[in-house]
Amino acid sequence: MSSEHESQPFSFADFGLSAPLLQAVNAAGYETPTPIQKEMIPHVLEGRDVVGQAQTGTGKTAAFALPLLSRLQPTKSKSPQILVLAPTRELAIQVAESFADYGKHIKNLNVLPIFGGQDYSIQLRQLQKGVQVVVGTPGRVMDHLRRGTLKAATIHSLVLDEADEMLRMGFLDDVEWILDQLPGRKQTALFSATMPHNIRKIAQKYLNDPVEITIKNKSATAKTINQRCLITAGGFTKKIDTLSRIIEAESVDGVLIFVRTKIQTVEIAEQLVNHGYLAAPLNGDIPQSQRLRTVEQLKSKKIDILVATDVAARGLDVERISHVINFDIPFDTESYIHRIGRTGRAGRSGEAILFVNPRERSMLRSIERATRQKITTMELPSIADINKKRIEKFKEKITGALKGDTSFYEKLIEEYLEETQVDPRQLAAALAHLSQGNTPLLKAEPKFRNDPAPANRRSAPTKAFDKRPKTRKSMAVQLPPEEGMERFRIQLGNNEGVKPGNIVGAIANEADISSKFIGRISIFDNYSTVDLPFGMPEDVLRVLQRARIGSKAMKLQKIGEATSTPPQTSRPQKPKRRQPEARKQNQQKVLPSSATL
Ligand code: AMP
Repeated sequence: MSSEHESQPFSFADFGLSAPLLQAVNAAGYETPTPIQKEMIPHVLEGRDVVGQAQTGTGKTAAFALPLLSRLQPTKSKSPQILVLAPTRELAIQVAESFADYGKHIKNLNVLPIFGGQDYSIQLRQLQKGVQVVVGTPGRVMDHLRRGTLKAATIHSLVLDEADEMLRMGFLDDVEWILDQLPGRKQTALFSATMPHNIRKIAQKYLNDPVEITIKNKSATAKTINQRCLITAGGFTKKIDTLSRIIEAESVDGVLIFVRTKIQTVEIAEQLVNHGYLAAPLNGDIPQSQRLRTVEQLKSKKIDILVATDVAARGLDVERISHVINFDIPFDTESYIHRIGRTGRAGRSGEAILFVNPRERSMLRSIERATRQKITTMELPSIADINKKRIEKFKEKITGALKGDTSFYEKLIEEYLEETQVDPRQLAAALAHLSQGNTPLLKAEPKFRNDPAPANRRSAPTKAFDKRPKTRKSMAVQLPPEEGMERFRIQLGNNEGVKPGNIVGAIANEADISSKFIGRISIFDNYSTVDLPFGMPEDVLRVLQRARIGSKAMKLQKIGEATSTPPQTSRPQKPKRRQPEARKQNQQKVLPSSATL
């Protein structure tokens, strides 16, 4: 590797975060702090008020969650200490999940998301049991403070997350009211993607000499690189499918794939190897000598694909990298510019493809501003595109083989033709079949072989599925099943050593269901849950009830009712200004099955 950006990266251990948090960060596979984390964490740890101009995708949640958890008082006390206000139910759940995940090694830590639209009784039960961290939407937090079910006196830290969004949604009065109710508040952190006048006013009025942090966007232009992006709404499995389609449909030589964590470099490289690619991971945990060997293998075409973190790919200079694929959008524009600069080396042209989650569009716009180039949106390559490419490659292989010495086989074939009088075209086809083996040359359109209900046929394949293994705590806040899916319980969990792959394998094999139709999987200590398309036929369910993982029966059972019917909950009257939240909640089809952490 060359010496570009060779300085030693800053590590999480340098912050002085408590040991349980470092352990969690390590387990998450984070290699280095993101720019906002590097700037923000020391100040929050010191107890300062902070204002951070940062959008989703910059790592802002860890920038406040890690130092605040590190400052948490002994968790024997179950009174609320940290309150986070978030504009939407989705963000509240996501932030609560992050707190639970980062705090999973802190003894007796309880985190609770509270949001409108969820039955009060679930939240009340948890509040009574005691929680140290509450993450909520302003309306519901206000209701609990008014009722006295959320005690304000012990809350010492408040975070306003996505403050501009909260104000845009009409929560200004609620937020100010809540700020006025927290007598014990010693520290406030405000995060906002933009800094309009009214946000500045709140900061001036309620924050105490805050440190302001804005991550500057470095500008640059990458002239010889063709930049495209693809909106990827699905989860991990969907993104892997997108990735393999792109690699198949594009004319690739060397490919460099960027991901966020060390764990993902390994996970994705393994998936690609399983798909038949020559791929390897490159991350900071791999010894330097082995990393150099891997890069050499890329240069000498023993490997075609590297899956890397930013740190490990720093300064990487391999001419044959035709494509840089940003599987995860980078945390800042500077990283993006560095990443795509790994292609288009030595005067060649290069292709840069960026996967963008719909929530990350504002980072996409920042990148466009920084590179002063429009990033064109590309379509997901279709099966027809892929098959066209496969046929092209197959023909190229024949052309290539014809260029070599074929004299031995020519004689053999001549002999065979004389013996059998078979049509030479038929013979060539038979040989093509032999060379292809049992793998069909053309990719088949995905189809749900054991179709459960015609109504769901159209929607099921487009769903976002996430079969990544999750830690026990992070699964404690369960998202509801996606529309068109319903949740099933499996009697085996962590205690039996079950992994998501075992569940997918058992369901796919036993019920002949394509893995594409298997949704979110959550693994708990004593059981697991899996989301399957709504309306599975009874005979398929009977097969699955008897299916086994290893020697143990799954005993699959449906949980609750179908997700396509909105739940009947009595909701308290909402004040007018909370309309945006209320509207959003009305679109939600189901409540989370559990809000306990
Ligand atoms: P956020 O901006 O807080 O929504 O975070 C975006 C994503 O980045 C989340 O999936 C985090 O888990 C992930 N993340 C946060 N910090 C890091 C880090 N230092 N290294 C790798 N991934 C991170």
